Amino acid sequence: MDQGKLIIFSAPSGAGKTTIVHHLLNVLPYLEFSISACSRPMRKGEQNGVDYYFLTVDEFKQKIANGEFIEWEEVYTNNFYGTLKSEVQRIWKNNRHAIFDVDVEGGLNLKKQFGEKALAVFVMPPSIQSLEQRLKQRETETPESIARRVGKAAIELKLAEQFDKIILNDDLGKALAEAEKIVGEFIKV
Ligand code: ADP
Ligand code: 5GP
Repeated sequence: MDQGKLIIFSAPSGAGKTTIVHHLLNVLPYLEFSISACSRPMRKGEQNGVDYYFLTVDEFKQKIANGEFIEWEEVYTNNFYGTLKSEVQRIWKNNRHAIFDVDVEGGLNLKKQFGEKALAVFVMPPSIQSLEQRLKQRETETPESIARRVGKAAIELKLAEQFDKIILNDDLGKALAEAEKIVGEFIKV
């Protein structure tokens, strides 16, 4: 496949996009996860080259200077995240469609660049309070990091209507079923 499709999942942190994307990867064999590069520290259980390509801030900036990214964002201070051009080429060469877990700005940026080839899905949390609760339960963030992530959510929610589809993630089972349906329909087009 010279050019496959792009399935983009974006949401405020804690809304459940990683959970949904992992589920889709388990049930839809034609998808492959687009591994982003990032400069934040690795969390317990994460692996370099599986969850992210973990880079130092300097390495990340060098790749920006070399023009190696399709898009990148400094999502939080000194926490850079971005999609490498080589990553999407790798997935398409593998005859799969690329599925992305990116922040809201990054999702809209990818959609703008790839238009009809891309499906941009916004995962909507039931409320901002639920985000805070979920991030606490996930036990991966410091209280400062939770506050920073929740603080950004109100602005991110305002961008939801610019996406192709919105999935409410209140009842997880329903959200997973809806995600499967939406992605299946898009790939068949
Ligand atoms: P994101 O990738 O958007 O930051 P995650 O997928 O990591 O979000 O989900 C945040 C936390 O909320 C995880 O611990 C996950 O298990 C939990 N979670 C996901 N969906 C739901 C849901 N519908 N109800 C309750 N908890 C959920
Ligand atoms: P986390 O630190 O929780 O893994 O990710 C923080 C945020 O960065 C999430 O909203 C995640 O979707 C986003 N993110 C991950 N990879 C990329 C990427 O390649 N580009 C952009 N713009 N955001 C990303």
